[in-house]
Amino acid sequence: MAPERIAKFRFYEELNDFLPKEKQKKCFPYAFKYNQSVKDAIEALGIPHAEVDLILVNGNSQGFTYTLKNGDYISVYPVFESIDISGVTRLRAKPLREIKFVLDVHLGKLCKYLRMLGFDTYYRNNLGDDEIVRISTTENRVILTRDIGILKNGKVLHGYWVRSQDSKKQLWEVIQRFDLNDQLRPFYRCIVCNGLINPVEKKDIEHLLRENTKAFFNNFYQCQTCGKIYWEGSHFENMQEFVENVISGKKTNRLSPFNKQIKK
Ligand SMILES: [Zn+2]
Repeated sequence: MAPERIAKFRFYEELNDFLPKEKQKKCFPYAFKYNQSVKDAIEALGIPHAEVDLILVNGNSQGFTYTLKNGDYISVYPVFESIDISGVTRLRAKPLREIKFVLDVHLGKLCKYLRMLGFDTYYRNNLGDDEIVRISTTENRVILTRDIGILKNGKVLHGYWVRSQDSKKQLWEVIQRFDLNDQLRPFYRCIVCNGLINPVEKKDIEHLLRENTKAFFNNFYQCQTCGKIYWEGSHFENMQEFVENVISGKKTNRLSPFNKQIKK
């Protein structure tokens, strides 16, 4: 029998969510066979590789294909835009600047919220796993999912397992996780189809309005893709209040469930 080989692993931040309690936030030994890649080991420990952004082996950054050696000390970090890891090689060539998402079928409400804040969000309530992965890779979209299984697909480059089950908390979680506080663009995108919305003259769309709407409102917007009309009525005010809550929540931390939410 081959002698047992041991590497030590330490996972950081949210990656601990995938580990059993006794392995969370501490260094632990991992026994492996010959020629096991660090990616295989990470997945064998239950961490979807798509959530990993940086691997340090004995203090040096390494890629997923690195082959484990006896006595290695391995630190594994999540995709976490707000910690400074400049000076080391991330697994991704560059962060996703203009962030775009594709969501699984369980995240319909989160989709609306993300679009409300202007984020390019692909969602259909009948998307299969393969289709989600294909859209993610061809359109360079980050997969947001409640199903960890999708993130273990070898083709997935960018993905995040949404911890919370409450859609507003999910929104917070995503904004914090990808450090999107400075990228909110409310009333920029259509909630229904993800198209861009623009101000439009009332006279140009008047024939499409109900009598009540025509009588009481004057400022209108229209989706360039599906033609849906938005106006500054009660619905708009509700959206505005929601957005302001999100933005002020960011400042006061009052609404942020993030730190509590992801710890089990
Ligand atoms: Zn639309």
